[in-house]
Amino acid sequence: MENKSEVKALKEKLFSKKVNGWKRIDAEEFDLIHDFCEEYKVFLNSSKTEREAVDTALILAKAAGFKKFNKDTKYNPGDKVYKNNRGKSIIFTVFGKDDIEKGVNILASHIDSPRLDLKQHPLYEENDIAYFKTHYYGGIRKYQWPTVPLSLHGVIIKSDGTSVQVCIGEDEGDMQFVISDLLPHLAAEQNKRTLPDGIKAEELNIIIGSCPFNNDEESELVKLNILNILFEKYGITEDDFVSAELEAVPAFKAVDIGFDRSMIGSYGHDDRVCAFPALMSLLDIEGAPNKTAVCVLADKEEIGSYGNTGLNSDFLKNFIWDIAKPFGVEGRTVLENSECLSADVNSAYDPTFSSAFEARNSSYLGYGAVVTKYTGARGKSGTSDASAEYVGKIRNLLDSKNVVWQTGELGKTDLGGGGTVAMYIASLGVDVIDLGVPVLSMHAPFETVSKLDVYMTYRTCYEFIAR
Ligand code: MN
Ligand code: MN
Repeated sequence: MENKSEVKALKEKLFSKKVNGWKRIDAEEFDLIHDFCEEYKVFLNSSKTEREAVDTALILAKAAGFKKFNKDTKYNPGDKVYKNNRGKSIIFTVFGKDDIEKGVNILASHIDSPRLDLKQHPLYEENDIAYFKTHYYGGIRKYQWPTVPLSLHGVIIKSDGTSVQVCIGEDEGDMQFVISDLLPHLAAEQNKRTLPDGIKAEELNIIIGSCPFNNDEESELVKLNILNILFEKYGITEDDFVSAELEAVPAFKAVDIGFDRSMIGSYGHDDRVCAFPALMSLLDIEGAPNKTAVCVLADKEEIGSYGNTGLNSDFLKNFIWDIAKPFGVEGRTVLENSECLSADVNSAYDPTFSSAFEARNSSYLGYGAVVTKYTGARGKSGTSDASAEYVGKIRNLLDSKNVVWQTGELGKTDLGGGGTVAMYIASLGVDVIDLGVPVLSMHAPFETVSKLDVYMTYRTCYEFIAR
């Protein structure tokens, strides 16, 4: 019979080890994590919508020397370009030393988040309160959104074709908005509803005012007062809402969570918590990488990536074709030799709701960047399911660079599921796998992530893209 120490040694040799990431880093990396996350919080606060994320990313990229892409130019190694897709999605590229036909390295993440969009005829008045009607965007738990301070972001195209940028409720002292809920004393009927119907979609009405225009006997004077304020501020009339994209989002700022400041709470981590590390990894490339590095920040992921700013359109493919053409290379050849990390979040194991997770295959807060081989639902339906070969390649890359990483599934099998942009990139012939940050309370108005996981996602993106 073997003695105890032999067993222990054998276990150490053969068993897989899961170690909390904070136990695996040194003091220097501890500081790097917190410093990186300070920058991330600034990005979060200035980028609450896809349009604002594009604007912020462009400011950072231009400062790093990125220039507007010209499809007739044959670029040199180290050249940095961007292609802005309608101000709602954007591609950044650093040209590499290798022939482009050997493929490119792609980081893909999304910059839209679940929110409440205004309807086209949003403004109405009832019992002397003015409201905006909303149509929610993406998967939300509707009961979470009342009694949360809201800000309003977006763009209004006026009848003369000029546009007005809107961002209200973010600056100190700005007015904010809110959706009401019943008081517990009168909630007996509402309490009988099931949770998904706790608040119904048509109850997500945003309170925007309560003071009448004057003391005339006219009706709808509160609404008139609001329209008058909007006309004086923006020069808009009620009909201009028809050609507007106005998004109500939680008004709070990103903050540290926990006595130990190990986490960040914020609106919109999904998926800025991957978009920011992806972008920064590209911006941090010095000189020219071997392979051309591409970072795409996409819109519309939360509603299935449809639309011409989502990755279920040809805008990424067309860009690859455009960068290949001056070299006399076919775009499809580039794509077939390319690799991608689809940088998106996963669900962090939540001990309070442990029954939703399969503990052996969940991702954990603070255990590093999560590599997700497959997403999907009902037996891997709707996922690209990365090959063992590609997982092996990414695994070896991360281990060789001492990145703290883990694997994860999206909760228990058959409990639900989800998808990312990975399958749309896979359909281009590119090798792709999901990689990102585990999130607590994903899609809630206020989501929580571990700072260590954010930084390790940055490191993963950098080691991948700077090859
Ligand atoms: Mn996402
Ligand atoms: Mn999402």
